[in-house]
Amino acid sequence: MAKRAYNFNAGPAALPLEVLQKAQEQFVDYKGIGMSIMEISHRSSEYEQVNDSAQALLKELFGIPDGYKVLFLQGGASTQFTMIPMNFLAAGTVGSYIHTGAWAEKAIQEAKLFGEVSVAASSEADNFKRIPALSDIQLAPNSAYLHLTSNETIGGSQFQQYPDTGNVPLIADMSSDILCRPVDVSKFAMIYAGAQKNLGPSGVTVVILREDMLSLVPKNLPTMFSYATHAKNNSLYNTPPAYSVYMVGLVLEWIKENGGVAAMERANREKTSLIYKAIDDSNGFYRGVVEPGDRSLMNITFRMNDEELEKKFAKESEQNGFVGLKGHRSVGGLRASTYNAVPYEACKALAEFMADFQARNS
Ligand code: PMP
Repeated sequence: MAKRAYNFNAGPAALPLEVLQKAQEQFVDYKGIGMSIMEISHRSSEYEQVNDSAQALLKELFGIPDGYKVLFLQGGASTQFTMIPMNFLAAGTVGSYIHTGAWAEKAIQEAKLFGEVSVAASSEADNFKRIPALSDIQLAPNSAYLHLTSNETIGGSQFQQYPDTGNVPLIADMSSDILCRPVDVSKFAMIYAGAQKNLGPSGVTVVILREDMLSLVPKNLPTMFSYATHAKNNSLYNTPPAYSVYMVGLVLEWIKENGGVAAMERANREKTSLIYKAIDDSNGFYRGVVEPGDRSLMNITFRMNDEELEKKFAKESEQNGFVGLKGHRSVGGLRASTYNAVPYEACKALAEFMADFQARNS
């Protein structure tokens, strides 16, 4: 059995050991063809099978209804910040955004390059320690769409419910929480996610797009930046990130073998409750950054009263086999990312380490 670190990286992040082992087994000779999946044409029947089965499995596991396309694109979720307004923010309409932290901010700034933007709700005044109440959302008339960041990877907040936007297309960045729990996909016109947290390695971005949205795409966009191009060509307009898509397929198979998305949610709740409990039972030694009702199932952010102590925690945790617990450089503090592939044992070990560290330092 491989010796594995307790990997709490924010992304790229832990992948299931079984997936890595399967990839290793198939690395040199994919299914008896005498070549790896990286060495063959993306027009080959073998790769087409990889592409189509990953799409089909995502549809099955996430309950994506008919009438949606699943696309595999490049450029990361950051390129989606650009493509969304390019494709959907027509002159005379407004791009509406819910502002919940650093990633929403990037999406907003990018949309401003293309047209009018309205912040429909924001928790900036509260330092992003909560998700705005759905009843506080003020949707601008003529909104082309409402965009939200389902899970704020840096801040550690997560939407627990999604707004009803009627005829206004709802678009969600689920980069850091896709498949962590069941979602009613039919509420959304578009969901997108960089793969490198819950879906696989970096290099591919999954876009789930309701087909009627394609009618809004301007005809004169640069080819690679038009959703119509990728939808029409089954994500094979140009050379795709074949290995990343292959790995996403293996991760999806792993989710299916482990009981599907509802089972992922159950496991994630058990895992995170261990760590949130270590915070909540610490008499203020550890402080959760986000209000309890809006806490993330994927990125647990916490602080201590003293930055030197936080540094000591980060250092000692590393010495004890934990990886990636330092908070994002823009906000400091500590963060444990507990994506689907992070095992229960790692979370249990972290909760125990936290209690032990507290006992030794208070
Ligand atoms: N949105 C969210 C919520 C993210 O966490 C990230 C990356 N950490 C991004 C967007 C940007 O993704 P990428 O690096 O794939 O461009």
